[in-house]
Amino acid sequence: MKLDTPPVRLGARHVSRHFTVRSSGRFSRTARSVRAVDDVTLDLVSGRVTAVVGESGSGKSVLAKMLARIVTPTSGELLLGDQVIAPRAKRTLEYAAQVQLVLQDPFSSLNPVHPIHHCLSRPLRIHGTPRERVDEMARGALERVALNPPERFLDRYPHELSGGQLQRVSIARALCVRPGVLLADEPISMLDVSVRLGILNLLRGLCDSEDLAVMYITHDIASARYLADDTIVMYAGQIVERSLGTALVDEPTHPYTQLLVASVPDPTATGTKFTASGEHSNTVTPDVGCRFAPRCRYAMEVCRRESPPEVEVAPGHSSRCWLHEPQRVGAKDQESLTLRRKGAPLAT
Ligand code: SF4
Repeated sequence: MKLDTPPVRLGARHVSRHFTVRSSGRFSRTARSVRAVDDVTLDLVSGRVTAVVGESGSGKSVLAKMLARIVTPTSGELLLGDQVIAPRAKRTLEYAAQVQLVLQDPFSSLNPVHPIHHCLSRPLRIHGTPRERVDEMARGALERVALNPPERFLDRYPHELSGGQLQRVSIARALCVRPGVLLADEPISMLDVSVRLGILNLLRGLCDSEDLAVMYITHDIASARYLADDTIVMYAGQIVERSLGTALVDEPTHPYTQLLVASVPDPTATGTKFTASGEHSNTVTPDVGCRFAPRCRYAMEVCRRESPPEVEVAPGHSSRCWLHEPQRVGAKDQESLTLRRKGAPLAT
């Protein structure tokens, strides 16, 4: 892990995305707002991998699409280097060249009727690469993702490649235009277990050698620990815990992060593991208080009433939980907080 502070390549400031859901009954029509991403602030930094971890529906993919500006934020702003991007500003070619997105499913993200050469040369032509340089740059992109020799792959069709090779081609396509930021949305979740490590090592190598700012989205906190320099945990559209390095995985302080860490299979473990009960949080308004409260074993009265603040629990490590603000909870909750801490330690 690098200790100096490299430049922020891409930042999000209080970014939210709310979707309107309309339903019509026999006599009435209603419109409700789904808060897929709510007030998220983060920085993606050159030469560092930032892992965003969360379960399905936590908003991590919508966040990646907002950062790629495929989805328009409802509010908040993006920063590309020093440049402030307003939420409704049009996505420019320059922005697209700087911020590239790699999708989860390599089988459907490449056009099956065109050979790999076409998949790589098209973005190069769109971004104005001189015709005489397109072949050389397409070959170079395949070499950067260790598909060697490139000539072996250029004329093949997507169905002729394995899942791991296809994901490498997807990454090569993103790298063609020399981006500064790579957003990888669950890049290994659809691959065989045997090739996943190769893709993670490839991302690590690209981040280091090309000084890329990489966002690695995953639901697997173990792979985040393996790859990431910095880690963020999302739940129901909000960031609930974040840390530099792997502090968050080694010493989780938010009950949801504890649940994620406890859910990693451990063949040597015996006894009962920490489990959650209750229903998944509702991201449809109105929903007050902590969104994890319906599943949290520490939930207090204040948790159901007020949204918890983000509190720094250690240098570079913060958590959005009332357990870390005991002075701000009511007398009744103070009592139950003490009892819970005595009977059920935060770390499992
Ligand atoms: Fe649990 Fe309350 Fe913390 Fe939310 S704020 S995670 S409900 S203890």
